[in-house]
Amino acid sequence: MKNRRILISGAGIAGPTLAHWLHRFGFEPTVVERAPGPRSGGHAVDIRGTARLVAERTGILPRVRQAHTGARGMAFVDRRGKRVATMGTDVYGDSGGPVAELAILRTDLARILHDTTSDDVEYVFGDSITAVEQDDDGVRVEFEAGGARRFDLLIGADGVHSTVRRLVFGPRERYLRDLGCYVSLFTTTTALDLEGWQLMYTMPGGAGRPGRTAGLAPQPTPGAVLAGFFVRSAPLRYDRRDIEAQKRIVIRAFEGDTWEIPRMLSAIGDAPDFYFDRVGQVRMESWSRGRCVLLGDAGYCASPMSGIGTSLALVGGYILAGELMRAGGDHHRAYIAYEQKMREFADRAQEFARHAGNGGLTPNSRAQLWLRNRSVRMLPYLPKSLVVRGMEKVANTVELEDYAASATLR
Ligand SMILES: Cc1cc2nc3c(=O)[nH]c(=O)nc-3n(C[C@H](O)[C@H](O)[C@H](O)COP(=O)(O)OP(=O)(O)OC[C@H]3O[C@@H](n4cnc5c(N)ncnc54)[C@H](O)[C@@H]3O)c2cc1C
Repeated sequence: MKNRRILISGAGIAGPTLAHWLHRFGFEPTVVERAPGPRSGGHAVDIRGTARLVAERTGILPRVRQAHTGARGMAFVDRRGKRVATMGTDVYGDSGGPVAELAILRTDLARILHDTTSDDVEYVFGDSITAVEQDDDGVRVEFEAGGARRFDLLIGADGVHSTVRRLVFGPRERYLRDLGCYVSLFTTTTALDLEGWQLMYTMPGGAGRPGRTAGLAPQPTPGAVLAGFFVRSAPLRYDRRDIEAQKRIVIRAFEGDTWEIPRMLSAIGDAPDFYFDRVGQVRMESWSRGRCVLLGDAGYCASPMSGIGTSLALVGGYILAGELMRAGGDHHRAYIAYEQKMREFADRAQEFARHAGNGGLTPNSRAQLWLRNRSVRMLPYLPKSLVVRGMEKVANTVELEDYAASATLR
């Protein structure tokens, strides 16, 4: 086997999945993660279609089920909190809805994957690569914390703002397709009993204000909720390191709105885990350059609001490891095969995300909002075959090979 020593940047979902399978196939992966250690809290993610099979084969499914958020679905409410349209997790088939039947906090999934691999894989937390140099024999990588190391291959699984992509392929602006909206999230508390439902209050665009939604999603910790804000907007100029400026953008966008919003905005100042970002996709003609390749959101983010990113990351990690094993570590062959097998899934996911737009969360007008609620209310009455056609079908694009059957496993 060639190219055994592999550096993976990013210990989110794709990175540890890849590390798990690389180790089993006889490679020696190292994972470098910018965060100081596994985190907790944050948004929920969905495991859909073929990605469930990856989770099962990786041996994490029982723990994933245990860590289930208890989500029962999404409900749109009016200003008084009355539910005007609901989507249970079962309405689109068990993995096709906006909240899938198998929903788990992203941090819980990352932690489970980390726990599964931490005995066999070298993890370096609290560091990042800062420079990459490729030659015929390998990749020389420099680290923020100091020092340099050589690896045979470098894999960027470091998310939508990937450092590997920037260093190897060029600035992110070249690859980001804008989807016209900002999203902000933070953990807080509420007196409301959500009973497992994600509540969303949408205000249509009009009178000089954009379409926008505020939401509360249940968290496994009793009393905790995830507050979310979604607002249609042209790109704004702000400093990505200036968190207070980003909080002010959210406050300005939702000031004067009703429902739970005043309480949510008053909690924003103390938010321990405030998140704010532009919603976009990563579009690339090729995911590899020489010995480096991109995986998950770093190479083909469909949109944080698409609900399919985690499934892309799991399936992508499994296929990339499998193709490296099958090619005996020959990265030229493996990267081509990985891209051939994942490209259709990534394209269809991105296409789906673009058509779904921002999930009806930023309607331009009252008419659009009315239509969204009307369509949601009709869902239970439509034939299942029609309803599950979209997401469920996309999530099952890839027919998963059983790489382990043709490998000598560790
Ligand atoms: C607000 C929001 C809501 C979402 N909702 C859903 C949903 O409902 N359903 C769903 O399926 N998906 C959802 N997603 C998308 C999902 O989280 C991603 O698609 C998925 O996590 C992708 O996995 P990944 O491993 O490619 O990237 P990530 O999970 O983003 O992991 C990347 C990792 O790389 C690390 N990193 C970044 N830079 C560096 C660096 N320079 N060096 C080292 N490490 C670095 C990061 O800290 C992170 O741990 C949402 C995303 C967001 C942002």
